[in-house]
Amino acid sequence: MEFRVGIDIGGTNIKSAIFSNSGDIEYKYECSTNSFNAPYEKYLEFIIEELLKGSGKALKDISSVGIGCPGIVDSKKKVVEYACNLNLNDTKFAKKLEENIKIPVYIENDANAAVFGEYKYNMLNSKDSDIADSMVLLTLGTGVGGGHILNGKIYKGFNFGALEVGHMVIEEGGRQCNCGRKGCFETYASVTGLINTAMEVALRYKNSVLHSMLKDGEKITGEAIFNAVKLKDAAAVEAFNIFIKYLGVGVANIINILQPRCLVLGGGLSASGDIMLSPLKELVDKFDYARSLKDRCKVLISKIGNYAGVLGAAFLHEIQDKYLI
Ligand SMILES: [Zn+2]
Repeated sequence: MEFRVGIDIGGTNIKSAIFSNSGDIEYKYECSTNSFNAPYEKYLEFIIEELLKGSGKALKDISSVGIGCPGIVDSKKKVVEYACNLNLNDTKFAKKLEENIKIPVYIENDANAAVFGEYKYNMLNSKDSDIADSMVLLTLGTGVGGGHILNGKIYKGFNFGALEVGHMVIEEGGRQCNCGRKGCFETYASVTGLINTAMEVALRYKNSVLHSMLKDGEKITGEAIFNAVKLKDAAAVEAFNIFIKYLGVGVANIINILQPRCLVLGGGLSASGDIMLSPLKELVDKFDYARSLKDRCKVLISKIGNYAGVLGAAFLHEIQDKYLI
């Protein structure tokens, strides 16, 4: 039996899993991205060893390793050209890893891997191939990534840099982004953006849960904010409304440019489910230029949540000839 390894390098955590060829997870391993430093390929080898130990498999059982990495990734040359959130420039760890472990290694932009994971999951588990064949997926995590499946292929742009939607400016002169511009979508609509908004708003609400967390030196997380929203904490609700407003503007912009059959929300924030989806859909209903049409882009939450990127990475070998530029 063949097995595949998928590794999804995020801004905060690295998720990985070993899969059977039919897409079932054999074993998962997760660690902090803080430890992901040069020589990067050595750390990836350590992750693969952990997966092999945990699953009772040997390297000879693995047919390929796939890696999802933020930023512009030249998947043909196996080079990370540029990733501002990880400070990577012209980084060749995938090639070096392949030389070291002597099995095929594939690398792809993390959101492209995630949209392929969602597509594959839909194709394996659903008859709704129309939806899968025209899909945009946004990863709402440390940053905001985008991937686009068009007629069953990944749209990458001629230089592999397409769908970097996290860096479209939605607030001219707004928050400073790691890419050098100000007011990028991801500075407001990512987990990091939500936390920054919550910390700003909490200062004005002395009786709020978030304010006491700040005062006690507790770390405000996305999960803590969503829990406080459920408790109707005034600061959390205001921060959440600001977050949804920017998310709605960005999502509607993407829909108005591409009009995919569906736009799927993935990444860490997708775990919040309907709390995020309902108010977002209300905004998209107002902002979508095609709002009066019967056929509209559907806004959905990922069916496999945070593991879409790992699944997609593990099966990157299937899409090597399925790119659009
Ligand atoms: Zn930016």
